[in-house]
Amino acid sequence: ADRLVSRERAAGDGMDVSLRPLSLADFTGQRQVRENLSIFIQAARSRSEPLDHVLLFGPPGLGKTTLAQIVAKEMGAGFRATSGPVIAKAGDLAALLTNLQPHDVLFIDEIHRLSPAVEEILYPAMEDFHLDLIIGEGPAARSVRIDLPPFTLVGATTRSGLITRPLRERFGIPLRMQFYEPEELQLIVGRAARLLDMRLLPEGALEIARRSRGTPRVAGRLLRRVRDFAAVAGATEIDARAADIALTRLEVDRLGFDAMDRRYLNCIANNYGGGPVGVETLAAALSEQRDVLEEVIEPYLIQQGLLQRTPRGRLLTDTGYRYLGLPAPVTSPA
Ligand code: ADP
Repeated sequence: ADRLVSRERAAGDGMDVSLRPLSLADFTGQRQVRENLSIFIQAARSRSEPLDHVLLFGPPGLGKTTLAQIVAKEMGAGFRATSGPVIAKAGDLAALLTNLQPHDVLFIDEIHRLSPAVEEILYPAMEDFHLDLIIGEGPAARSVRIDLPPFTLVGATTRSGLITRPLRERFGIPLRMQFYEPEELQLIVGRAARLLDMRLLPEGALEIARRSRGTPRVAGRLLRRVRDFAAVAGATEIDARAADIALTRLEVDRLGFDAMDRRYLNCIANNYGGGPVGVETLAAALSEQRDVLEEVIEPYLIQQGLLQRTPRGRLLTDTGYRYLGLPAPVTSPA
């Protein structure tokens, strides 16, 4: 399904390889993350050491992969990327690690999805740059120790709660990414439009930015769709009105919520009295994966104050009711 808001990367992401910012200075937004990284990179460079391991938390599409690439570039080091679900066996990880060059950056996306056996291998690799491997089976089995080049692991995860504590504690630099402000996304969209040779007026860029759920990946996808609509309409430049027409056709409303958001919110309001309702129940009712609800749909609704996560389940807030144009129940604790 080609959804505007999804967990997956897609070919038409709008800000593909050539549009990715390549230096920290070019990377818009995430000021705190940027400033911290910049200091740690300078310090590591001045000591001619690899950067300490970095753990990036944040919803999909906020720029974790991009930042990992920038870290490698700024360190003058090589970049290797993989992801948790791809590393099936301990041997797969061992092969990756033994092939690294000194100071390389190894990026592991969705690091919370590593299997426990693979995670075990990672601990000594991260701590002292060595592997302990068991060779052979039964009485002939012996353990060998392999030294690794010093490297930097950059791990990315969508939610901090999913990563095991021993793994989390081995990252010296944990960084939390935030949703972007519309003004930041406006700059990002403007830059992408220039690289795509589009005539996008600042108000057009702001319109797209406001409706991109604080997420550069979504902004990139919307930008491409807006360009398509404008091209078919024969428009030479894209102003706020042209952007609005295209976004409305895409069912992205003025606040940036899409059809899936409205389905989700209506489901809680109409089927579960506004909650609290468990995420599994909602996933079943909506025929969606729980992961998609938790990682893609909910974070933005929570950030915008429409939804709360409580120990007893999801709860629609007064703001959520107002958004739907429904009266909030008087007993609503939200
Ligand atoms: P993540 O790894 O967090 O899912 P990515 O790094 O793949 O996100 O970024 C998603 C898309 O958004 C990429 O195409 C990337 O170029 C773009 N992007 C992300 N952050 C920024 C930013 N700060 N400035 C410009 N483009 C960005």
